[in-house]
Amino acid sequence: MNFAQFPRRKYIHTPTPIEPMPALSKRLGKDVTLYVKRDDLLPGAGGGNKTRKLEFCIADAMEKKADTIITCGAVQSNHCRLTLAWAVKEGLDCHLVLEERVKGSYKKEASGNNFLFELMGVKSIAVVPGGTDMMGAMEKKAAELEAKGRHPYIIPGGASNAIGALGYVSCAAETMTQLNDMHLNIDHIVVPSGSAGTHAGMVVGMVGASSNIPVSGVNVSRKKDVQEEIVYKLALETAEKLGINTAIDRNAFVCFDQYVGPGYSIPTDAMVEAVKLFAQTESILLDPVYSGKTAAGLIDLIRKDHFTPGAKVLFLHTGGSPALYAYMDTFRK
Ligand SMILES: *Cc1c(COP(=O)(O)O)cnc(C)c1O
Repeated sequence: MNFAQFPRRKYIHTPTPIEPMPALSKRLGKDVTLYVKRDDLLPGAGGGNKTRKLEFCIADAMEKKADTIITCGAVQSNHCRLTLAWAVKEGLDCHLVLEERVKGSYKKEASGNNFLFELMGVKSIAVVPGGTDMMGAMEKKAAELEAKGRHPYIIPGGASNAIGALGYVSCAAETMTQLNDMHLNIDHIVVPSGSAGTHAGMVVGMVGASSNIPVSGVNVSRKKDVQEEIVYKLALETAEKLGINTAIDRNAFVCFDQYVGPGYSIPTDAMVEAVKLFAQTESILLDPVYSGKTAAGLIDLIRKDHFTPGAKVLFLHTGGSPALYAYMDTFRK
């Protein structure tokens, strides 16, 4: 796979570790061995998966001579934190449009990512109600800035277009190189499935590498069928952009939607248990919205004997721990 055909900023200089999780595997007491790919340790203030996508998205913006980045997300968005972080580092202005998906959830003085927006010097934050046309809201902001002589570039929510998803195709290639070096034969990979770039990119990359390792997604908001279609469509666009000729089978896209709970970003008991288990066995910090719910799914699938006995399962840890500090009451209850 040829990533050098696209503009790319190099933010990642070494592969993120793949580590065994012996204490957690033992605690679960099943015949499954767990490993973790530590994308929570990626560079970029606070770490997490969006840095891989932003290598391509910010490079595209800079190639198009942008001086300003506009992006969007939820009120505690990791994607907004990392987009802001890399924009600052590149000397670009950054404006955020935040969607209040849970009514009343935006608090100007909130901790977590919200505090980091302020700390890293965001140029403006516009908060809009849940269900708003986010692209429309960002285009409006872009028009305002253009009228003032700026050159804005819009990065979609989660940086999940075919440009951003390249970052996770590249992660799949990196993962295969590591697994071969470690002589580690993984049977299954479990990833969060949100705005879909991570999941789509991983599947495309695994197909592109002819790895035959299935990748399953755990949803954080949508229903199974809807999410699978979104991931599939983005995967096709990404594969086409890269020029991958191998056919991509619709059946390669599997999502679990039983772990969302009442809705996006709303805590569940299983998420709280998973976050505590990871913290208290492996000293790994998950987050309440993505990696916590994904880990809850992973743990439940193991308990239900979803994987074949003896399976080696790799959990892709996408980061997000700064959001924990906005949810302390949930964990202390
Ligand atoms: C954005 C995000 C995800 C989801 O990745 P998508 O590419 O949007 O599906 C998972 N974990 C964390 C911590 C995130 O910030």
